[in-house]
Amino acid sequence: MDYGFIIGGEKLFSAAGEFFPVVDPATGEPFARVAKAGPADVDRAVKTAREALEDRRWSIISPLERGRILNRTGELIRNNADELAGLMSKENGMTLNTALYVEIPLAVDTFSYYSGLAARTGGETVPFAVDGAPPDYLALTIKEPVGVAAQITPWNFPLLMPAWKIAPALAAGCPVVLKPSSETPLTALRLAEICLEAGVPEGMVNVLTGPGGTVGRALVTHPGVSKITFTGETETGRSILRDAAGDIKRVTLELGGKSPNIIFEDADLEAAVSGALFGIFLNQGQVCQAGSRIFVQESIYDAFIEAFIARAGALTVGPGSDMMSDLGPLINQSQLTKVQNYIAAGKTQGARLLTGGGRPALTAPYEKGFFIEPTVFGAVDPEMSIAREEIFGPVAAVLPFSSEEELIRMANGTIYGLAGAVWTRDIKRAFRVARAVRSGTIWINTYQLLSPTAPFGGYKQSGLGRELGSQGLEAYLETKTVIVDLNESPVSYF
Ligand code: NAD
Repeated sequence: MDYGFIIGGEKLFSAAGEFFPVVDPATGEPFARVAKAGPADVDRAVKTAREALEDRRWSIISPLERGRILNRTGELIRNNADELAGLMSKENGMTLNTALYVEIPLAVDTFSYYSGLAARTGGETVPFAVDGAPPDYLALTIKEPVGVAAQITPWNFPLLMPAWKIAPALAAGCPVVLKPSSETPLTALRLAEICLEAGVPEGMVNVLTGPGGTVGRALVTHPGVSKITFTGETETGRSILRDAAGDIKRVTLELGGKSPNIIFEDADLEAAVSGALFGIFLNQGQVCQAGSRIFVQESIYDAFIEAFIARAGALTVGPGSDMMSDLGPLINQSQLTKVQNYIAAGKTQGARLLTGGGRPALTAPYEKGFFIEPTVFGAVDPEMSIAREEIFGPVAAVLPFSSEEELIRMANGTIYGLAGAVWTRDIKRAFRVARAVRSGTIWINTYQLLSPTAPFGGYKQSGLGRELGSQGLEAYLETKTVIVDLNESPVSYF
């Protein structure tokens, strides 16, 4: 089946007539073709979005009604959950369980949360004074949409990543041109249709598909774009930041991670084992905040390892469409090769492979799918590549620690700072460690939980700015200060 872009509410194909295939990661087989954008398509999409901004087709709708439209978008996502889950599973490989019970509810909640903020984009009155003049001034701030937002998303959560970007942009009044990952374009296209169906005016949500190096870059450097929000690898984020510098575009970056999951000897061990499994194996480890470095206090190290590898080894790997699968396939062959290379590096660098590491034997039609077993390494040294670099696969590195000081040094010893967790029954220690870990999110006695109400983003090279929460809305707003002189004789120096 052939899919086109969505620009100005219309389904369009590329000006050059080009397509690229979308592959099912469970079988390795292509199952659809999507239009491949070129420079003319990028220009058309940005101009369409600018027109929508300039003719005020969204801003003339009352803020309450805009909120209702956003809420309706969330409701339509919920009503179409089975179709969306099927699509996500097909193009991303994720299990239906992950799609239905993690990603879709979070996407619904994101639209629901920002529907409430659509009527709360106002500024404030501020005290204002001029030295030596009577204090009769009125000063206030007005919030205005920053302009056309280019939104570039990765493949790991094909619905949620676009939802995190589209919902706050619309609440703030910004039209968007979204470029989803070429691995998972179909869910984003369907989301744009749902926005239209909910009543978002044509031209406010445009989706372009094509390679990041050309279409993504053309969007980032287009003079009609004012704001860039990007989620993806740190290296790509660095290049986008450079590209955005020319026009001083506003930039939000959500990048990679190597998050520490810290388990103290006084933790509820069973809960910590469950949290560690969820932390690293959700979505085959293809989660930016994955707890890929598990730090375990020496006194409980053996007990933890025994329970953890027993449960990791019992997880079922299979097609995402099978409700019995705990883990689906990785996204593509290059991701599979990358993960296999890290497993080989872990072995040669001297870590102990405790479970997994190989490919499960699946029968047709899944024998060519990109599956890999959940893998656990013990005796990991912080200097090994499996402890320092983002693998983005189901590979856990378990590291023992003795003291809290040593732990904090190791936990903070990477370029990343996205998330982390601490498991302990000692509330003071929990907060001490939570404060000492340099990351944008830290969980205490839980892992992975997110809500659109709470800001999300990275310290250090894990990002710039925040998504979600009220900060996620601010990222799409400019602040204008208006000063009124109410004095009988206005101040003048001449
Ligand atoms: P990626 O950086 O390869 O690609 C992300 C998007 O950027 C894609 O749409 C791609 O086409 C586009 N792109 C690539 N090069 C570009 C360029 N030069 N200019 C503009 N756009 C370009 O990332 P990925 O492999 O799709 O996703 C995995 C990464 O995403 C991991 O590093 C993961 O940690 C990160 N991630 C972060 C978060 C977060 O919230 N911090 C969430 C999810 C994923």
